Amino acid sequence: MLGQMMQQPLLISSQITHAARYHGDAEIVSVETTGGVHRTTWGEVEQRSRQLASALLQLGLDHCDRAATLAWNNYRHLEVYFGVSGAGLVCHTINPRLFPEQLVYIFNHAEDKVLFIDKTFLPLIAAIRDKLDHLKHIVLMGPVDEEAEKQVPGIIGYDDLVARGERNFRWPEFDENTASSLCYTSGTTGNPKGALYSHRSTVLHSYAVVMPDSLGLSGRDCIMPVVPMFHVNAWGIPYAAAMVGAKLVLPGPNLDGDSLKNLINEHQVTLAAGVPTLWQGLIGSLKKSGEKVPSLNRTVIGGSACPPSMIATFRDDYDVDTLHAWGMTEMSPIGSVSTLLHKHLSLSADEQAAVRAKQGRPPFGVALKIMDDDGNDLPNDGEAQGNLYAQGHWVIDAYFNVDTPAPHRDGWFPTGDIATLDGNGILTIKDRSKDVIKSGGEWISSVELENLAMGMDELADAAVIAARHAKWDERPLLIAVKAEGQNPSEQDILAGFEGKVASWQIPDAVVFVEQLPRNATGKVLKNKLRDEFGDTLLNQG
Ligand code: ADP
Repeated sequence: MLGQMMQQPLLISSQITHAARYHGDAEIVSVETTGGVHRTTWGEVEQRSRQLASALLQLGLDHCDRAATLAWNNYRHLEVYFGVSGAGLVCHTINPRLFPEQLVYIFNHAEDKVLFIDKTFLPLIAAIRDKLDHLKHIVLMGPVDEEAEKQVPGIIGYDDLVARGERNFRWPEFDENTASSLCYTSGTTGNPKGALYSHRSTVLHSYAVVMPDSLGLSGRDCIMPVVPMFHVNAWGIPYAAAMVGAKLVLPGPNLDGDSLKNLINEHQVTLAAGVPTLWQGLIGSLKKSGEKVPSLNRTVIGGSACPPSMIATFRDDYDVDTLHAWGMTEMSPIGSVSTLLHKHLSLSADEQAAVRAKQGRPPFGVALKIMDDDGNDLPNDGEAQGNLYAQGHWVIDAYFNVDTPAPHRDGWFPTGDIATLDGNGILTIKDRSKDVIKSGGEWISSVELENLAMGMDELADAAVIAARHAKWDERPLLIAVKAEGQNPSEQDILAGFEGKVASWQIPDAVVFVEQLPRNATGKVLKNKLRDEFGDTLLNQG
């Protein structure tokens, strides 16, 4: 016997329809690429994204054709998110910080037919346009002036395109398993690979994002996704925010600490999300100006391990809770979020901080497990360390348009991370498997050492790599950037580890550098550091 309830496909268009129907007046504040602030509402975003959908279909695009974006977080990008997917096309957000060759590869691999760009990226596109084999239309997300027309002849003005769409266009209905958006991994080695999300996976992921033990979004929030809309759909926040009708602040191109601080205070942001390096900028700006951020009650930090010292600074100096989140492009991205359980409430502040510093628990819809190299399950005891695998409604099944089979093991996706899980499924990421330090048969967690280094006042940035060693195969080497106005010696820094980790885990040496190399999503390029400094300990004899 079947249940007798209505069957409605889980479509992204239903999220924006809901936002317009019940939160039509909720505000969206958007910092424009050309400067200034634009204010709109969920109601207007829905109207314009529906017109955009109509205009795109008038261009003759076929169902599931890809429409790419090279854009900052702004209201037109938000309209493109809903308009493209809502039309039954695939919204392919591209990271503009990739190298031009990688961009060309991604455009051609995805077979993008339309491209939406912000003014910033006109020169970038002018330089590679001839190599983009499938591209038919380029749309400028702003007014077209002579300069734009000269750089990219034939470019279409976004607002003109929207105006061409029918005002009464109705969102089409189709199978919820239809592809909705596409995002490529940053690919530190080899070509980037595409994760192709569906309407169903996106809507279910959105439910997981808003849950109280996850990011806990609500209509009372004013959310600022600082994480770019080209980085795993800004962690799904645009879709989830539409579902609860939250106010949004889209910060545009300037993500320095002063700009973020001003936006938070001007628009009463309650929740902001981004990678750890961004928050270093915000904290730096707050320290310098002596200002506070009274409206902000929580930050979501993920993408790389969030140093516990950052969580403490937010809590102690600014009364802001940190939600430490773990995920990947292949997981839409939310895999786990660190929030306390009832049994943690009676713990001391320090013990609670230790729980919060971990990567957290998977929300309903994701399951995690660890296995050894031979595929044997390891216990969830908080001690056993192994390869982390994931399953779930928004976890990748296969990479987009590749011949190689999916890397899964018995239906579980290998995350490439090394982790422990405890009885509540609380996840601690120890390393990426390629970054773990194998010292004389023992494993040393680079993340743990980096967290300690980041807690030292003398250092502004730190990475720990496996350096080749004559006796132990590999030993930890700390690559560090000194904090402004500080001049610690190698010995000062090494002494800072004493008593905090076993003595054999303390790095062998410190190399001071001006800056750490980072990839397009802000992660430290450890392979580059290994190339440069991997032989340091051998050379020291
Ligand atoms: P890419 O895989 O291309 O580097 P992702 O943004 O998908 O890009 O990165 C996913 C990886 O980032 C995870 O597998 C993990 O190694 C790392 N990561 C993400 N969040 C955290 C976190 N909170 N703590 C530690 N590592 C994290």
